[in-house]
Amino acid sequence: MTRTIADMLVDWEPVIGLEVHVQLGTASKAFSGSGVEFGAPPNSLTDPCVLGLPGALPVFNRHALELALKLGIATGSTIRARSRFARKHYFYPDQPKGYQITQFDEPLCEDGYLDLLLDQQIKRVKLTRIHLEEDAGKNLHVGAVSHVDLNRAGVPLCEVVSEPELTSAEEAAEFMRALHRLVRWLGISEGDMEKGQMRCDANVSIRLRGEDRLGTRTELKNINSFRFVQHAVDHEIARQLRILDGGGRVERETRLWDAAAGQSATMRSKEEANDYRYFPDPDLPPLVVDGATMGALLKAMPELPTPRFVRYQRDLQLAPDDARTIVSDLPLAGYFERVVAVNPRRSGRVIANWVLTELLGALHAAGVEIDQSPMTPANLSELVGLIEDGTISGKIGKEIFEESFRTGEAPAAIVVRRGVQQISDEAQLWEIVERIVAANPKQAETYAAGKDALFGFFVGQVMRETNGRANPVLTSDLLRKRLGR
Ligand code: ADP
Ligand code: MG
Repeated sequence: MTRTIADMLVDWEPVIGLEVHVQLGTASKAFSGSGVEFGAPPNSLTDPCVLGLPGALPVFNRHALELALKLGIATGSTIRARSRFARKHYFYPDQPKGYQITQFDEPLCEDGYLDLLLDQQIKRVKLTRIHLEEDAGKNLHVGAVSHVDLNRAGVPLCEVVSEPELTSAEEAAEFMRALHRLVRWLGISEGDMEKGQMRCDANVSIRLRGEDRLGTRTELKNINSFRFVQHAVDHEIARQLRILDGGGRVERETRLWDAAAGQSATMRSKEEANDYRYFPDPDLPPLVVDGATMGALLKAMPELPTPRFVRYQRDLQLAPDDARTIVSDLPLAGYFERVVAVNPRRSGRVIANWVLTELLGALHAAGVEIDQSPMTPANLSELVGLIEDGTISGKIGKEIFEESFRTGEAPAAIVVRRGVQQISDEAQLWEIVERIVAANPKQAETYAAGKDALFGFFVGQVMRETNGRANPVLTSDLLRKRLGR
């Protein structure tokens, strides 16, 4: 009898560590003046340094350092005041120098963490290191012909290396989402995986539950979407489980994930492992982080997603899902906070609901970014207030929202002009209820005899009479009183 993956997972524990490359959003390359632009004509963004021409000397782009430091600070990393660039040698057509400039034994950042905002808990995953390096170019194979495009060569990268602390494919994907959220929040990268601005290698191993030592790992290369991270890791966990559970041994190897086929295949085994012959790059001075730079960056650091996620749930009673969605984007979170700030007594839950459904929907339909929203935070706060204090119903609120979004007019002014204030005056509503029940004696009798569905008929009549302005709760109460059931 074959055991299912679920059966095997009772005995075996997956362990995953990720190495993620993030392109830093600088205007020029890491060690030379060529521009950085996705989709530019092939080989239009090169220079003697990128081409590895003899005599060309690298000059480090300080902007890349600043961006990397932001990530280091936001992940609580220990930052080296003096770190070093090293050469990592390998021959490949997309790397004409014959080596990549990277950091080896003296990385810029160590011992940081990244928070995964899960529903039930925040999982803090340790980061081994974050270092600076340059990207390689791209090889393009068309039939028998291979092309090389060096536009990407020399683009600054941060490599973020996690400790082996993730225990499922979902957590691995969540790690990528958390990093994506953070780099965008900090404005250091768009993190667009479709453009290769974030790429991930996943290291996967399995061990018996309760075992301290790690199992033999494989490394999956070439994963370039959140979905593929999950698929590739899930697939690899299942592959290793079948081997180990059947009494076999996992080979230490590098595997290439083929997203189209939904499979991985051996790329190179341990025997063919590269020897990169690292040594300090003699062309570059040590990378020095001075106190003034650190001070300025620390001062400019925004409140980070994790504390906001916590605060929105604790102080504003937001559901975890809504809190997470709001902290997925700094401008969105900024807008939400401005609405809350207009009148902190208003319900955060209700505001979140309006922002995430009506506002985002309207912005999307209009093709407008949230920081250009024609509905100002003050107007949205006013609208929520009109509903909360019973001036208008939620249904009318949506109509007022639409008009205010379209024209920019204040909701209170629209309500007065349209005369759509909710009728919550008991005497006035009672009079209407009396009139409607008197005008429909047959329905009243049938309802009294037990036909519950007719209640909706009466509510509908009252709403028609009042153009939808009757307070629905009060209307139901009064109708029940009048109809005797
Ligand atoms: P490299 O891949 O360059 O040899 P490391 O040995 O430092 O570098 O490991 C890189 C990544 O592999 C890290 O994210 C680490 O957490 C992860 N890792 C190391 N050993 C294992 C293991 N046995 N199982 C799962 N992940 C592992
Ligand atoms: Mg590796």
